[in-house]
Amino acid sequence: MLNDIERWFKDLGKRPRFKSIRHYSGWTYPAKTGYSVESDSENGYLNLSKIGRIQMRGQALHWGKPTTCTIVYRNGKWYASITVDILDQALKPKILPIGAIGIDLGCKSALSITDGENHQQIDAPKFLRNAEYRVKKASKDKRRKRAPNRKKKIIASRRFKKAQLKVGKLTRKVANQRHNWVHQVAAEIISSNSFVATEKLEVKNMTRKAQKGKRKKQKAGLNKSILDVGFGMLRSTIKYKIQQIGGLFVEVPTRQVKPSQTCPKCGNQHKKTLDVRVHECFVCNYRQDRDIAAAQVMLYWAKGTLPGAGTVLVGADLTSSTSRTRKYAGSMRQLGEKKRQKSQSNFAKNKLEDVETSNSGEAS
Ligand SMILES: [Zn+2]
Repeated sequence: MLNDIERWFKDLGKRPRFKSIRHYSGWTYPAKTGYSVESDSENGYLNLSKIGRIQMRGQALHWGKPTTCTIVYRNGKWYASITVDILDQALKPKILPIGAIGIDLGCKSALSITDGENHQQIDAPKFLRNAEYRVKKASKDKRRKRAPNRKKKIIASRRFKKAQLKVGKLTRKVANQRHNWVHQVAAEIISSNSFVATEKLEVKNMTRKAQKGKRKKQKAGLNKSILDVGFGMLRSTIKYKIQQIGGLFVEVPTRQVKPSQTCPKCGNQHKKTLDVRVHECFVCNYRQDRDIAAAQVMLYWAKGTLPGAGTVLVGADLTSSTSRTRKYAGSMRQLGEKKRQKSQSNFAKNKLEDVETSNSGEAS
């Protein structure tokens, strides 16, 4: 293959421009050429053509046949992400956990979990809220330094770069904390349940700015906490972990079922505004926390035991292990998901500092 300069000489392309390291994100070995892995999943070496042999650090939860390898440069470090083909059996536990739960994702408590009788509420961590002051201060410091401006040919001052690094470090920490929390919560849910019913969530709509009125401030604060928890991430993590063990993840159509307006005991629908925190049925006198009641409605609906609801699992998005087709991950989009995976490894060589080992469709 021709490189950029050869292309330019042959009049096939433009003169190659200088690309700074900031604009260089890495490369992928799409096929099984150009790289090879010597590993037993616990440790080993990665051979990259024209670069050399690099020691790997970190452990894959499941190891298999390497398919693609991607080298990324992120946050000042080099990572290698290796996708492996694994046998489906390796991911499935021998005995499926038998628990069935409904989950309501809210703001007051991040998760309201119920199996019908026992309820549990998990509070939202306030990672961003806690770090907000420091992030804001660091950003302000950065704004006061000499920022680069290409048009005016101003280069960034050393202090600016330093301040920029600091901001990046802080925000990255928040992101890592959130990611860690999401995985812990999801792992705990999966450890005893294989049937999860939750609502179809549209974070985009939920976090839409309030247009006017006195609730504007309130809504803005709510938005911040919705985004801080990372609902989308939480949901998708639970979803794929459930699918991985071969369980069932039911998405309840919110508009059709109206979990927060329905009584879990008798199915009577009664409209509640957002500030009503307790569900109180005037037909059967059932009293329950609003979010727990919503979780119950979703669980019963998914199981088909919700009173007064005839349509069961029609219109729901069922995602069970049988409908799963993807076993092979290799696109750049999926790489983005992989990049934050937990198991990281370190490289001894100067060029590549870190290696990330990952499996197709799993995160530790
Ligand atoms: Zn009722």
